[in-house]
Parts: sequence; C-alpha cells; structure tokens
Amino acid sequence: MSSTAEAPQDVIPARLLQGQKALVTGANSGIGKATALGLGRAGADVVVNYVAHREAAEEVAEQIASFGVRSAAYEADVSKEEQVVAMTDRMVEEFGTIDILVANAGLQRDARFTEMTLAQWQKVLDVNLTGQFLCAREATKEFRRRGVVPKVSRSAGKIVCMSSVHQLIPWSGHVNYASSKGGVHMMMQTLAQELAPEKIRVNAVAPGAIKTPINHDAWATPEAREDLLRLIPYDRIGDPEDIAHAVVALASDLMDYVVGTTLYVDGGMTLFPGFATGG
Ligand code: NAP
Repeated sequence: MSSTAEAPQDVIPARLLQGQKALVTGANSGIGKATALGLGRAGADVVVNYVAHREAAEEVAEQIASFGVRSAAYEADVSKEEQVVAMTDRMVEEFGTIDILVANAGLQRDARFTEMTLAQWQKVLDVNLTGQFLCAREATKEFRRRGVVPKVSRSAGKIVCMSSVHQLIPWSGHVNYASSKGGVHMMMQTLAQELAPEKIRVNAVAPGAIKTPINHDAWATPEAREDLLRLIPYDRIGDPEDIAHAVVALASDLMDYVVGTTLYVDGGMTLFPGFATGG
C-alpha cells in the first residue's frame, strides 16, 4: 500500500530549523520538492533550485512561503561550474548565508552496457556526481567564511547528499547511475572526514524505491508494482515525504553527532529480501 495522501504531513516540528537557510537542488519535483517543503515546514528559508521547469519551481517556492518563511526559485544546471557559483553567490547575497545544502538533483539515462553511449555515461556522472561536488564545494566555502553561529546551529553547515540504495546494490542496465551513486558514497565520506574538524557535517540519505517521475515505469502498472514490492520487505513503495523527513532530521541539531553516515530509507530493500525464505 502506498499513497502520498497517507504520508503524514504534520510530523515535522515547526521550529526545528528556524533561522536557517537551505538550498535544495532539483527541488521542483519528486524528492527534492518534498524535501524543500519539509525544510520550510521546519522553519528554514529555502532556495528551490531547478534547471528546466521554472513554473513548477515557482509553485514550490510559493507553497513554502505560505508557511511563513522566505523562499525563491533559482535556475542553475548543477553540472556547470559557473552556474553553481552564481547560484550560491546569489543565495548569500539575497538570503545572507547558506546553512544547509541538500545535493539532490539527479537523473537516469538507462541502457544495457554495450548500448550505452559515452554521452549517456557522461551526462549521469556530470549531474549526479560532479553536480554534488560543485554544490558541496561552493556551500563549504560559505560555511567556512561564516563559521558556527551558536544561536542558529551547533555546526557551521550541513550537507546532505542524495544517494541511492544503488551506492550498494549493483544495478544491471544502469551502470552509469550505480557508478554515480557509488561515487557519491565515497565523496560524502571523504568530505565528512575532511570537514568535520571545521564543524561541517556531511551525511547522505539513500532512498530505496520512491514514487517520483524518475522511476515512473517501476510503479505505474499493477504488474510493475508487484515486481517492485517483492524487493521491499516493508511492503510499500516509498513516498517523497519519507525521504524529506530523514533529510530534515539529518540537517537538524537532533543529529549533531552524526557525521559521515548514510541513512538508508528503503523499507528494508538493502536487507537482501531474496534470502528471507532461505538461501
Ligand atoms: P525527479 O522527480 O525526476 O527529480 C529530479 C530533479 O533533478 C528535478 O527537479 C530536475 O529538475 C533536477 N535536475 C536534473 N538535472 C539537473 C541539473 N543538471 N541541474 C539541476 N537540477 C537538475 O527524481 P527524484 O526521484 O525526485 O530524484 C531526486 C534524487 O533522488 C536523485 O538524485 C535520484 O537519484 C535520487 N533517488 C531517487 C529514488 C527514487 O526512487 N525516486 C531512489 C534513489 C535515489 P528539472 O525538473 O528542472 O529538470
């Protein structure tokens, strides 16, 4: 059973992130949108990044502003260095600083291995891995410039990388995507190690199967749903809010001692469900 309508909307403490400024990449759709809304509900001011669908991004920003916080939609392709630098500079100018980065933007370009073009390989690596590198680097410069402001947070900044169960589970027909998420895993841990002494916390969330446009074919028909549910011990497909709740918690001081961790939010998908009945 899964439906967005069933996902609890009011479980986020309204002042958990009060006074903090969050940047969410790829926030006009799916997981990024739910996360941006969740951060807004928690009291953060939120920049909603998008690359192609401005109207959708502006709607998300309006919805966030209705919670009584500031929000704006910024266009930038996260795989383009000059656009990322311009986006973070603009956020510092207009919002004063950046406290939280959710490096979420991502895409798939699926193909069997020998049919995969270099362009498909490169595009996924550029957006999913290089995009997170660029956004994390620019956000870190701002965290370092500002330092810890105890009234706002115990740390100088938080980065939450959107990974996937496919940082761990190999995925036939998706070598570009799985490689990008494997890269995110090692990038996240290395940054966490390097930046922790500066009170910058870097962690990741690894979603399982979440109902969004990126994996529409995997849940859109009853047959596809049934196949997918066989991989999920908790027996429901995830909602974007399941991921949003994990990100809000990780970004907050409730998790101040959590550094370099991947939080799997996957209904048990990484528990090797094929072994539940033997092996
Ligand atoms: P989605 O609904 O397709 O959203 C993807 C978002 O990324 C969109 O907002 C898109 O913006 C943005 N984007 C794509 N290329 C971009 C670029 N070059 N620069 C800036 N933004 C860009 O997919 P989703 O499921 O929410 O995925 C979000 C993240 O979760 C991805 O990193 C994905 O790998 C990860 N994830 C998803 C699942 C799942 O089951 N859904 C599972 C594991 C991990 P535009 O609309 O403007 O193009």
